[in-house]
Amino acid sequence: MNARDKIFEQRSFDDETLHCPHCGWVGPGSDAHVAGFYGLSKFKEVQCPDCNEYLGNLSRDRSTREAQRGWDSQIGPI
Ligand SMILES: [Zn+2]
Repeated sequence: MNARDKIFEQRSFDDETLHCPHCGWVGPGSDAHVAGFYGLSKFKEVQCPDCNEYLGNLSRDRSTREAQRGWDSQIGPI
């Protein structure tokens, strides 16, 4: 990602109004296409659902804790 990239917060993303500079699509974040998995990255790529133009990054915030819980549960009870 580049420093000028737009960063969306996950908790407000569904209500965020996105605009595609490529095809002119405008819609809520819930209609946008979010690509890939977080994995080692802190961000997912947000893409236009019509033309797949890259629109920005979706930041994982509270999901970090959920991922942490998942990790703990894999270790099992101490
Ligand atoms: Zn587009």
